[in-house]
Amino acid sequence: MMASVDTAALLDWIHRFRDVVTEKRDWLTELDSAIGDADHGANMARGMDAVVAKLDAGAPATADELLKTVGMTLVSSVGGASGPLYGTLFLRMGMSAGPVTELDATALAASLRAGLDGIVARGKAEAGDKTMFDAMAPAVDALDAAIAGGADLVAATEAAAQAAAAGRDATLPLVARKGRASYLGERSAGHLDPGSASTTLLLETLAQATADSSR
Ligand SMILES: [Mg+2]
Repeated sequence: MMASVDTAALLDWIHRFRDVVTEKRDWLTELDSAIGDADHGANMARGMDAVVAKLDAGAPATADELLKTVGMTLVSSVGGASGPLYGTLFLRMGMSAGPVTELDATALAASLRAGLDGIVARGKAEAGDKTMFDAMAPAVDALDAAIAGGADLVAATEAAAQAAAAGRDATLPLVARKGRASYLGERSAGHLDPGSASTTLLLETLAQATADSSR
């Protein structure tokens, strides 16, 4: 049973997220071309490349500095809505984490909750608006519930990833109420929200990095 996620595991998470958004760049772009401006895959891949380049040049030793570096790099390198939203997510996670080298289950959950609150503060999204919130909010709730129920971090982050995927899939029939997709009105229904898709990748890679670091 693993009790915490250390900075090496956080770094592994960031690398995995970069790898998967690069691998799935065309899919994310395809989703965004249906209801947005077809740049989500390219934006996320470019942003995460910049993040990894920055961290490879010298990764901070503490969780707060590491997460803040990710956030600031995304804000400065990704345009559109996703740069500020993902940037805020990581900046708030870093502020919550503090100058520590590992996060236990409670601290990781609090950090993700702070990140979610940051997304809400910046994007003003609510449940069912067909945004990244629809994957992130159920994931954070599932993480809290799993931890409260006594699950270890591996099981808890896996539960969060599954909740994110269910939230992503539930965006399919929704009519978008936020962002560029909302301009399409009813025509936005029948497509997955790209932000909820990349957010699910974020939670899935967190679960993978957590599972891997516990071996
Ligand atoms: Mg876009």
